[in-house]
Order: sequence, then C-alpha cells, then structure tokens
Amino acid sequence: MPGFIDGIKAAKAILQGLMTTGRHVPRRPVTFEYPEKPKPVAERFKGRHALQRYSDGLERCIGCALCAAACPANAIYVEAAENEPGNPVSPGERYAKVYEINLLRCIFCGFCEDACPVEAVVLRHDYNLADYSRGILVVSKDELLDSPDRGFGENLFKQGMSERAL
Ligand code: SF4
Ligand code: SF4
Repeated sequence: MPGFIDGIKAAKAILQGLMTTGRHVPRRPVTFEYPEKPKPVAERFKGRHALQRYSDGLERCIGCALCAAACPANAIYVEAAENEPGNPVSPGERYAKVYEINLLRCIFCGFCEDACPVEAVVLRHDYNLADYSRGILVVSKDELLDSPDRGFGENLFKQGMSERAL
C-alpha cells in the first residue's frame, strides 16, 4: 500500500511539473541566444570606449587630457604631441600621440565622456569585454579610434576656434 501512495504522489508531482512547463510554452522567452543575439541595452548604456573623428577624417582628440583628469579610477593615459602644420592629425595645435584606457580599472562612469570638450571619447554599447589576458584589456588608441569614414560634424577649429580655445 505505501508503494501505491508513493506512486500517486510521484504522478501528481510529474503532472504539476508538466502543467508548469505548459503554462510557459506560449509566453515570450526571457532568455537571449547570446552571443548570436545579444541582449539590447538602454540608449544611455555605457560600454566600451571609442575615439571619434570629424567628417573630414581628422581625429577629434586634441590631447588635452581632461578625460584623464576627470577619471576617478586613473584608467586613462594621454600623451600629446604637436601637430605638423601641413599634415595635422587633429584640428588645433596638438593631438594624442598615445591614448590608452585600462578597462580593468574603468568603472564605466562616463566622466571622461562628459569632460571631453570636443566629443572625442565616448562610451558605446559594446559590453563584450571579457578576455584571457590582462594586457589585452589595456586598449590602445589604434583599437579605440573610429575608421575615417565614420567621422561626423564640421570641426570648429576651421573657423578659428583653435586660436581662441588653445
Ligand atoms: S568611464 Fe569613468 S572610470 Fe572609465 S575611463 Fe571614463 S572616467 Fe575613467
Ligand atoms: S579624449 Fe577629449 S578630453 Fe581626452 S584628451 Fe582627447 S580631447 Fe582631451
């Protein structure tokens, strides 16, 4: 007799489980097929950094290091150099010869983006930041810089801002 009662209990538990499964079948899935279909993020999400350009291809960054000064995690290193007048890298007098961000230190607060006077450094939506080596997570200017065809906006320095602001 105890075996029969245990059998009834087991059958009831299986039935309850199947009913729970059945209730969820018509619902929209809450999981994402990452990495093929990454989870969308909010518009203001702050992910991996990028360095932007102007529409004429010049780099926006003028090597002022305000982003590094604003960073609470001391994650940014900037080394500026003088632009060659006939072959400038950026508008203005200087450009970032070296620009590095240590993503292991970064807390993705966005203060660097807020501090930048020329919209050079921005935090985009990429959150695929895991890797196997710490060195890889110190990203260089080459890895951060947008391609020349991705630039936008007229640079204000053409209109004499360089003399006023720098
Ligand atoms: S997001 Fe914040 S912590 Fe990260 S580099 Fe910018 S200022 Fe520093
Ligand atoms: S990213 Fe902006 S704040 Fe940072 S060095 Fe370049 S111009 Fe200055």
